[in-house]
Amino acid sequence: MTQTATNSNVLTADEHLDYDVIVIGAGIAGIYQLYKLRNIGMRVRLFEAGTGVGGTWYWNRYPGARFDSESYSYGYSFSQELLDEWDWSEHFASQPEILRYLQHVANKFDLIKDMQFSSDVQSAIYRDDTRCWEIELQGGSRFRSRFLITGIGTLSQPTLPRIQGIDSFSGQSFHTSRWPHEPVSYKGKRVAVVGTGATGVQTIQEVCKDVGHLTVFQRRPNWCAPLHNSKIDPDEMKEIRAGYNEIFETCNQTNAGFLHTADSRSTFEVSEEQRHEFWEHLYASKGFGIWQGNFKDVLTDPKANEAMSNFVADKIRQRVNDPEIAEKLIPTDHGFGTRRVPLETNYYESYNRDNVELIDINKTPIKKVTSKGIVTSDREFEFDLIIYATGFDAVLGSYDRINIVGINECKLVDQWRKELSTFLGIQINNFPNLFMIMGPHALLGNNPRSIEFNVEWITDLIQHMRARNFTRAEATAEAVASWYKHVVEQGEGLLTNQVDSWMTGINSNLDGRQKRILIRYSGTQTTYRKRCNEVAESGYAALNLM
Ligand SMILES: Cc1cc2nc3c(=O)[nH]c(=O)nc-3n(C[C@H](O)[C@H](O)[C@H](O)COP(=O)(O)OP(=O)(O)OC[C@H]3O[C@@H](n4cnc5c(N)ncnc54)[C@H](O)[C@@H]3O)c2cc1C
Repeated sequence: MTQTATNSNVLTADEHLDYDVIVIGAGIAGIYQLYKLRNIGMRVRLFEAGTGVGGTWYWNRYPGARFDSESYSYGYSFSQELLDEWDWSEHFASQPEILRYLQHVANKFDLIKDMQFSSDVQSAIYRDDTRCWEIELQGGSRFRSRFLITGIGTLSQPTLPRIQGIDSFSGQSFHTSRWPHEPVSYKGKRVAVVGTGATGVQTIQEVCKDVGHLTVFQRRPNWCAPLHNSKIDPDEMKEIRAGYNEIFETCNQTNAGFLHTADSRSTFEVSEEQRHEFWEHLYASKGFGIWQGNFKDVLTDPKANEAMSNFVADKIRQRVNDPEIAEKLIPTDHGFGTRRVPLETNYYESYNRDNVELIDINKTPIKKVTSKGIVTSDREFEFDLIIYATGFDAVLGSYDRINIVGINECKLVDQWRKELSTFLGIQINNFPNLFMIMGPHALLGNNPRSIEFNVEWITDLIQHMRARNFTRAEATAEAVASWYKHVVEQGEGLLTNQVDSWMTGINSNLDGRQKRILIRYSGTQTTYRKRCNEVAESGYAALNLM
């Protein structure tokens, strides 16, 4: 490991550089990274493609968009003042409130002045002779910085379905994450929703209340569970505020940073009665408890998973009046919790309404979109509005669309196509001075908890380098190989990694996303953090610092 400083490249004397650090993305990650780096006196510029802060919560303005994490477990934990002054109005806040929160954070800490909006980063090229990154924005302006930090999101690059004629529709049509800033009227209209993942579920249960007629096009149902949202009154907010230390302490101890974590018992270790009682309790409880706080083997033992799936299937049958529709809504290609569980409020009851129709596009595939609507193999539907809730090119999409070039003209997209590998989900061999916040093979979980950890780790590393006049950091090939091995080991036996989903890199709407890969770290938060902390404690021995 080379750990020598070259005085000609001292970090603080980089007059030839525009900035010490360029951060891409003004979501939860970018906002906090900018705050941390400015606090240690770095010259930072943040570029964001959107016209304002918020990331996910800036883009996803579709009706019904809200948290599945408890609001108070999702907000930043780093500022006592912020915790003291911000009131959440619901246990699971809706998008407008979340966006207001993030705008408040950016204003409170005076971060906007270092952000540049409508600035889509198109390319990032590393120059080893000057140890800097050269960034080019759409439009051609260029900037140079010592370090480049990506906070570009795991679910930020939308994908539309591959349907012939998709541009020919004469009514309004939107992908949910590109919902207009102006109000969209759907009252009394003929509306289609394509897609029944987490976003589709939130959209369907909301718009069905107002539309004239809603047609849902479903390729594959998901296992949904009740959100049990409710308002937070001032007294309850006081209690929540008084318990923030405990809330974040709990999040720090759980497997994935949520307030919920696996029960220590196995499914068949308890009696059938106790098992059902526990599942009834989870089904009646708020949030991700039913997914993250279930028996410890529900996501590893196929028999336990089958029993749990049967329990939820029965719930769906009880809630949907028409038995044929109920069966269509019960997944048969994956078990409960092996894909991201959408949380819902009266989602299943939406299908009991006269104005809602469910079309199974496995049976009657969509043939094309026309100027009037959607044509399937057996019918032509006319619509005023088509909503595409068809998800994202998860994790990799936002990297692939930037031309990222490292040493020896190595292109990131080519390197990752050969083998997706990183170090801690933060660094990449051949790409010095590039740090990713929640990159591939990092822990995702309750995202802000992982983001805060990643941001602090990166900031500490930059400080470590500054104190020693180091200007180049690169994960060694050995460190990357060893992390990859660890990621594979941690994923073994998990049913989640044995089904097609964005968590295994599958997206049937995109070329090159048909082969299952490990895209995220599926070990526990404790293990992830321990590994990262060990690297820091060793003086970053796994990195080549110079
Ligand atoms: C509808 C929805 C609901 C969700 N609910 C939850 C939840 O309840 N709990 C949870 O933990 N997570 C949830 N998530 C995940 C969510 O993405 C994260 O919680 C969090 O917002 C991620 O923050 P981020 O800053 O990493 O990325 P993002 O919020 O995605 O922000 C990335 C930003 O980078 C910008 N960007 C990307 N590429 C470029 C480029 N080349 N140039 C310039 N700018 C660029 C984007 O425009 C975007 O604004 C949800 C996601 C979605 C889509």
